[in-house]
Formats: sequence, C-alpha cells, structure tokens
Amino acid sequence: MAHESHDVGDLAGHMTGDQFRARGERMLELIASYWQTLDSKGSPPVMCDKGPGWLLERLPAAAPDAPGGTAEWDAIFSDIEQLVIPALTHWQSPNFYAFFPCNGSYPAILGELLSAGLGVNGMLWATSPAATELETRLLDWMARAMGLPDTFLSTSPNGGGCIQATASESTLAALLAARHRVRTTRDLGPHPEFVVYTSTQAHSSVAKAAMIAGIALGPEDPHIRMVPVKADGAMDEPALARLVAEDAAAGRVPLMVCATIGTTGITAIDRVDRIAAALEAIPAWCESGAWIHVDAAHAGALMLCEEFAHLRAGLDRVDSLCFNPHKWMLTTFDCDLFWTRDRRSLISSMSINPAYLKNEASESGAVFDYRDWHVPLGRRFRALKLWFVLRHYGLSGIRAYLREHLRLAALVEGWVRDDAAFESCADRTMNLVVFRPRPHEGADAAAQDARTKQLMDAVNRSGRLYVSPVVLPREWDKTKRAHLAGRLAIRMAIGATLTREHHVRAAWEEIRRAASNRQP
Ligand code: PLP
Repeated sequence: MAHESHDVGDLAGHMTGDQFRARGERMLELIASYWQTLDSKGSPPVMCDKGPGWLLERLPAAAPDAPGGTAEWDAIFSDIEQLVIPALTHWQSPNFYAFFPCNGSYPAILGELLSAGLGVNGMLWATSPAATELETRLLDWMARAMGLPDTFLSTSPNGGGCIQATASESTLAALLAARHRVRTTRDLGPHPEFVVYTSTQAHSSVAKAAMIAGIALGPEDPHIRMVPVKADGAMDEPALARLVAEDAAAGRVPLMVCATIGTTGITAIDRVDRIAAALEAIPAWCESGAWIHVDAAHAGALMLCEEFAHLRAGLDRVDSLCFNPHKWMLTTFDCDLFWTRDRRSLISSMSINPAYLKNEASESGAVFDYRDWHVPLGRRFRALKLWFVLRHYGLSGIRAYLREHLRLAALVEGWVRDDAAFESCADRTMNLVVFRPRPHEGADAAAQDARTKQLMDAVNRSGRLYVSPVVLPREWDKTKRAHLAGRLAIRMAIGATLTREHHVRAAWEEIRRAASNRQP
C-alpha cells in the first residue's frame, strides 16, 4: 500500500507544524511572563485565595464536541490567564516557603518540552535506547557527585539507579525488593508477618508504602512501627533495635527500616551509621536479608556539598536511597533519583515477561529495562530535564545555589533568635527554620497553638508569602525540649528557585508585622 506523507495538520482537527510553532512561541512567552510576574511588585497572592468550587463553577459541564480550531486557541490562552492562574498556589514564587520547595527552572522546562516533543516511551531499553542510557549515565554522574558508595553505580556487579516519579514510589519499590529478598533468603511459610520500621518523624509515604504492599492495613497498624525520636528529632537507634529484636523473638519478620535524612517536619537527620550498627548487632536481622532504605527526598541535594559529608555516614551499609531533584535541585516535578546496591532483588520483585515485551536486547541481559525497576510499565523521558539542569548550571552552579539558600536560612534563624517576640523551635540543620510566636506567660498548650496558628494564617492570608505548619515531636516531653512537645510551629523552608535575600528580608518583616498586629 502506498503511503502519502502528511503534515499532521492535514487530518481533521490536527494542528499544523506552523501553527504549533506559533502557539508554542506564545506558550513560552506566557510561561516566561508568568515567572517574571511572580518576582515583581504586582505578583499574585502566593497561596491561592480562591474558595472550593471557584474554578468548577467557571468551567463548562461537558467537553467540547466540535473542533475548536484557531479561535479556540485564543480562548484557551485567555482561560489560562483568567481561570487557571488565579486558581493556583504559586510554588515558583520567590516567597513560597511552605512544605519543601518544588523547584522549576527554564532549563528543566525545556527538558520537559523536549520529552513531550520526542514522545517516546522508555519502558524497555529497546523502545528507545537513548532514554535508558542517558538515565543510567546521569544516575552514575549524580552518585559520584554526591559521594555515594560505588556499589550504587550501574557499573558495579549488582547496583544502579533510575528515575522514579516520586520519593513515595521509591520507598514502595525498596519495600517490594526487600520483601522479595527476605522471602527468597529463607523459608518463611505461607503467611509471614512482616514488619516495617521508620521514625515517628518519617514522611507518611513510608506507612503508605506498607499499606499498598499489603503489610499494614493503615498508618496505625502495628506492622508499621513508628520508632520514637531523640531530642534532635532523629530516630532513637536503641529503641529501634529493641523493637526489631522483640519482633524477631515473637516470630514476626523484620523487613525494612526506612531512615530519613532531612525529615519533613524539622529536617532532622537520622544517623544511618548508628542505625546500621544497631541492626547489625541483631543476629535475626543479619540472617533475614532485611533491607535499609534511606529517604533523603529533600536533603539529598546537599550531599553535593563537601561540608555536608556527614549526611553520607553509613550509606555504604544501606540497600537503597532516594532523593528528589524536583525538590531543591532546579528540576521540575517529577524527578526522584533512586539507587540500590541490589538491583537483582528489585528487578526480580517486579519483572514479568509477557510475549509482547520480549526482545533480543532484553534477552541478551546486556541492557537495563527500567520498567522492572518500578510499578508502571510506561515511562517518560525524564532524564532530559535533569541532563539540561546539570549541563546548564554545572555542579558548581548547583552548589552555589544551595549554599545561597543555606546562607539565607542562617539569616532568618538569626532574626528569630534575636527577636524576643519569637521562639526558635528546632535546631537548623539545613534550609528550614522552625519557629513560633513566643507564648504569653502562663498560656496553656491550646492557647499557644492557637496563637501560632493565628500568626501563620495571617501571614498566609496576606498573600505576600506562604509558610506551613509542623507539630513538633511528642516524644520531646522526655527531653530538654519538653515545653515544645506536640506543639504547633511554623516552618519556613528557603529553597525556591527565585528566592533572594531581599525576599526573605521582606518575608521576615511581614511575619514580624503580623505578629505585632501592625498594618502593612
Ligand atoms: N519523603 C520526605 C522526607 C518528604 O519530605 C516528602 C515530601 O515532602 C516525601 C518523602 C514525599 O515526596 P514525593 O512527593 O516525591 O513522594
């Protein structure tokens, strides 16, 4: 059958290449103007001020039936400005200090565009070798730059890394690999009772992974053990060892410990070296093939900086680690880097070979098929955006960026300490400052929290910045921080791409103003 060559625009309703160029230029212009607006005097409120249903009320109830064509594109651009942008919380604003940052940058955005433009699905090496091999090389680049153990490199006998969408998915992948290894290490009978351990300060994604894997029914289930933390917010290693030994003695099967480097609440740093040492002293742990995973979702970026070498202590004794360049390394969401020193267990836990996926390259064993490294089959060409970020900024540019945010966080920390109206609520370990308004003499816990919430809400309602809350560790009631145990505090994470010193100065002024009920 003869094939004619068609511009896709020849088909009813398709956009021509020339129309795509013109609309693409307009879209890039819109994005660049949006970013510029975020860093200007007329910037919109950082936290969205629209109520529930605001956008739903303005959207048609049904999808359009007729092709929209050229006129529709004018309407689409107008809707982006009139409907979509007003209903956004502006994560890329320089005044976004809530949660952890979710970085974007122009080089990464161009990578996203190219990934969509090339439109490949890198599920197998054979379905686009470049998608797999670029990713493999970048994971090795990053492992070396971060000083990770050589056992995580793709060139090592059993290690390697891949890009997962999120840290949550990495934790799940680690857990599935752990279960596979433990089940194939010894005979556990038909219904082993697995247990996962993490600290009370770990991200909820650890409990969620245990729930998805069928190990725990819910976050309160005893098969996910929340290990108490110490005064610095890090996992209490002797408490962990006691729980693991107790479970093993009772016939339960310790499966995985998830340590956190940079907890979500206060960026506490679990001592991975001490955790590994405590576990290695338990014979049942050593015999079981159980797994240590490290969640460094936010803080992993700092491993690029030599002054944070302490974050790497003990990583030579863990089975896997993940970190998100989409948090604090200029790479647009989604991009989580996951490494393991036991890729065989990971791959075996998820590999199935239906006839339609079989191919010579896979069967040769000479290639990575990343579909076996995580839950989905299909995968986007995410490596492009990370590649562009690394080539554009270079490691030294990224380090300078991180260090500038650390400098700004130190400034804010100093302002908190020097101002009697505020109380610092946790030691600063990186770019997060945790504080609250100093409680009135004799105020009970509820009154203290109400005051903190009132300040946070006032600041966020001002539209000039966005901060988020944390409930401080309840275990602190047995430490020198007893008065802060379980109390509400305000988190200010300094890590948005556009944040500079004048932004944090203005933010602090706004916080002080709100705390003293002054008008702007
Ligand atoms: N782990 C930690 C320590 C986090 O702080 C977060 C999110 O902030 C996550 C995991 C979840 O990240 P993701 O959205 O990539 O799953």
